[in-house]
Amino acid sequence: MLLANLLREAGIDCVVVDRSSRDDIFRRSRAGLIEWRSVQIMREHGLADRLLREGVPHGKTEFRFAGQSVVVDYGQLYGGRTHWVYPQHEVVSDLQDAFAAAGGEAHYEQPAVKIELGEPAVIHCDGLRVECGVIAGCDGFHGVCRTALPAGAAREYHKDYTFAWLATLATVAPSTEHIIYALHPSGFAGHMLRTPTVCRFYLQVPHTDLLSEWPDERIWAELHTRLALPGWTLREGPIFDRTLFPMASHVTEPMQCGPLFLTGDAAHIITPAGAKGMNLALQDAAELAAGLIERARTGDNARLDAYSATRLPRIWRAQEFSYWMVTALHPGPDDDPFTGKLREARLDHLRLCESFAANFAENYVGLL
Ligand SMILES: Cc1cc2nc3c(=O)[nH]c(=O)nc-3n(C[C@H](O)[C@H](O)[C@H](O)COP(=O)(O)OP(=O)(O)OC[C@H]3O[C@@H](n4cnc5c(N)ncnc54)[C@H](O)[C@@H]3O)c2cc1C
Repeated sequence: MLLANLLREAGIDCVVVDRSSRDDIFRRSRAGLIEWRSVQIMREHGLADRLLREGVPHGKTEFRFAGQSVVVDYGQLYGGRTHWVYPQHEVVSDLQDAFAAAGGEAHYEQPAVKIELGEPAVIHCDGLRVECGVIAGCDGFHGVCRTALPAGAAREYHKDYTFAWLATLATVAPSTEHIIYALHPSGFAGHMLRTPTVCRFYLQVPHTDLLSEWPDERIWAELHTRLALPGWTLREGPIFDRTLFPMASHVTEPMQCGPLFLTGDAAHIITPAGAKGMNLALQDAAELAAGLIERARTGDNARLDAYSATRLPRIWRAQEFSYWMVTALHPGPDDDPFTGKLREARLDHLRLCESFAANFAENYVGLL
C-alpha cells in the first residue's frame, strides 16, 4: 500500500490486488514498532498524519537478566531519533484510506494464483486478470510472487530455530513505560507496548509446543517468572489473541527478475527480535517506488536495476542485528553455565560501554 500510494502520487498507474478482505487485513495484529526512517518516508508524502497524532515516540528499552535491569536510552544515544509505537494494522488502514481517497484502484478478496513474466507481465487472479509492465510482489512469504521466479534466477538463504515465540495480546494497561526484553533460564520473555489499553507479550517456547498447551494461567505464570524484578509488578488482563510464531529467517537474492520485484516478506523474513520486518517492507517499497518513478520521469533504469543491490546490504544488516538479539536473549536447551554467563555479559556490555550501546541504538532504530 505504501508503494501504491507513492506511485499514484507520481502519476504512475497501478492496480493493487490482495487475496484478503480489508476487514481481515485489519484484524491481523502484528508489528507495532516503527522506525524513524519509515516514519520519515510516510511523513514526506503526507501519509503519517494519524500516526504522528496518535502514535507514541519511543526511545528507551530495558533488558532484564540475572535479577538486574539495564535501561538503554537509545533515542538519546542516536541523536534524538526514536521509534514510534503505532500498530501495523493501523498503518495499513491509513495507507488504504489514502490510496482510496486519491482514486487508487484496489481489489480485495482477489487471490493471485499465477504470475506470467512476459511482456506484458500478467497477474491471474481468481476473478481478474491484470496486465502490467511491472509486478511488485508484496504478497508475503507464502504468496505466489516469490515462487514465480524462474528456476536458477535467485538463491534462497534460510535459517530455522529450535524455538518459537508465543505471541499474545491482552487488554491491559502497560506495566512499563518502555519495552522490556528479559533473558531468563526458562527462556525469553518480552513486554511490548501497543496502546494505553492493549499490550503484546512474547514467550520463548519449544517449536514443537501447541497452543492448547498454553492456557492463560500458564502464560501469566511464565510472564511473572521471566519478567520478575524486585519492586516491579506485572498487570494482568484478558488475553484476546494468541499465536505461535515459528522463528525463521530467509533472504532471496536477488529480489528482482525481469518485470518482477519482490518486497518485504515476499523477499525476506526475519525473526521478530529487533522489530525489523514491517520496517524492511516499508523501506523496500520506498526504494522500489523511487526506481520506478525515476524510470517513468527520465527513462533512466539505473536506480530500478540497482533495487536489489541497494536493498540487500541493509536487509543483511538487519538480519545480523536480529540474529544478535536472538542469540543474546534465548537460552538453548543444551547451554552450559559458561554459555549462559557469556549471554549475560553480552547484555551487560550495553551498560558498561557507551559506544556499544550507541551502536545498538543505531541498529535498533534503523540505519538512515
Ligand atoms: C506476531 C508478529 C509480530 C511482529 N512484530 C513485528 C514488529 O514489532 N516490527 C516489525 O517491523 N515487524 C514485525 N512483524 C513482521 C511484519 O508483520 C511483517 O514483516 C510485515 O507484515 C511484512 O509486510 P509485507 O507487506 O511484506 O507482508 P504482509 O503484511 O504479510 O502482506 C502481504 C499481503 O499479501 C496478501 N497476499 C498473500 N498472498 C496473496 C496472493 N496470492 N494474492 C494476493 N494477495 C496475497 C496478504 O493478504 C497480505 O495482505 C511481526 C509479525 C508477526 C506475525
